Amino acid sequence: MGAEHVLHRTTQRPPMAVRGEGIYLIDEQGRRYIDACGGAAVSCLGHGHPKVAAALSEQASRLEYVHTGFFTSDAAERLAAMVAKMSPGTLDRVWYTSSGSEAIEAALKLARQYHLERGEKGRRHVIARRLSYHGNTLGALAAGGSAWRRLPYEPLLMDVALVDPCFEYRFAEPGESPEAYGAKAANALEREIARLGPETVMCFVAETVVGATAGAVPPVPGYLRKIREICDRNGILMILDEVMCGSGRTGTFLSCEQDGVVPDIVTLGKGLGAGYQPIGAVVCTSEVYDTVANGSGALKHGQTYNAHPVGCAAALAVQQVIREEALLDRVNSAGTRLRSLLAERFGNHPHVGDIRGRGLLQAIELVADRSTKAPFDPELALHQHAKADAMDRGLLIYPGGGTIDGRHGDHILLAPPYNVTDEELETIVDLLGDTVEAVL
Ligand code: PLP
Repeated sequence: MGAEHVLHRTTQRPPMAVRGEGIYLIDEQGRRYIDACGGAAVSCLGHGHPKVAAALSEQASRLEYVHTGFFTSDAAERLAAMVAKMSPGTLDRVWYTSSGSEAIEAALKLARQYHLERGEKGRRHVIARRLSYHGNTLGALAAGGSAWRRLPYEPLLMDVALVDPCFEYRFAEPGESPEAYGAKAANALEREIARLGPETVMCFVAETVVGATAGAVPPVPGYLRKIREICDRNGILMILDEVMCGSGRTGTFLSCEQDGVVPDIVTLGKGLGAGYQPIGAVVCTSEVYDTVANGSGALKHGQTYNAHPVGCAAALAVQQVIREEALLDRVNSAGTRLRSLLAERFGNHPHVGDIRGRGLLQAIELVADRSTKAPFDPELALHQHAKADAMDRGLLIYPGGGTIDGRHGDHILLAPPYNVTDEELETIVDLLGDTVEAVL
């Protein structure tokens, strides 16, 4: 091995992965890890899927790259048609990016331009939510509500108004019905709009199911419909970030389909290309698109790798596999199975306060005291210990933690591939159980 030149996320060099086979990753020592989180909910088909590998190899040898200032490609057109077909309502125009963060950046610019085209130049405020994550580029970070991620860069971040998330386990009052709580959570947006002045607000951004920051938190029934109504009433664009929970991860192509809402703009990433290529997308309604197209003509944005043909070919193959193998149905059945395995193992655990999620995006939250929901001391960084312990056992889990007013603790996120078997789910929950016992 040569000298160290890669800047890693950690001070120590992580193990070197050399191969992936289905749900397994294999390192240079030959150790096998069951990948229960797909990295950060990325690998939705597992590793080494031959059809996707063949599709991207074919694309790379035939046409590896074109700049979107000169050409489009067959892969980009076909993928966009497929995404439009699978998306609800008139969400039928697709802008490609190379990552989720870039999708959020493009979505924010599109929202701003939409209002400019309509002559509403004063609309510049973004409202987003605490305990959310929209990416690590500066615009996306500003729109995110992850306190520790923001802290070092606060002076560089644009001003974004943050309201409380819809997080029933942590924020609902005892005895409050989900419907009453959802209405109250949505009213936080209404109040913030009134405070800023509706004519100054351009968009509201939220993850449909909160992923990395709070751990697989779905909205309560009715919350997003109320949000939709508030946005409409105030002329504000509703942007749903489905970088983690979209692309089939929760059992429908877009997770918001399950909430009966159609946002104006939705962002995708991760599962879209399933890790075979870095690709993200912004999907907008024909109303948003037409406003720009009939105004100045096009989004004033662009990056060198937009609509990369190999990325699009990989994502197209991923979506074809999902369809051919009826994997959305499998997400639903495997999600139900995973949820019941988690309930069996942790349902009465004194330090597991909540088991939650949607489809194959599930999490457990660790608490010091189940009755008071008091989190463990964040200094203990239990979620990081859990990740390390699990990895030693050959299990990959996605840890998260952080506090909001001392209220939210450590969680462990699971996001196995859509083609996971029941036996693999049992192994995952068994190993996770051992990890939880070991770190508490
Ligand atoms: N939005 C959500 C909901 C995410 O979970 C993530 C990544 O975890 C992002 C945006 C940023 O995506 P990327 O890391 O691909 O830039």
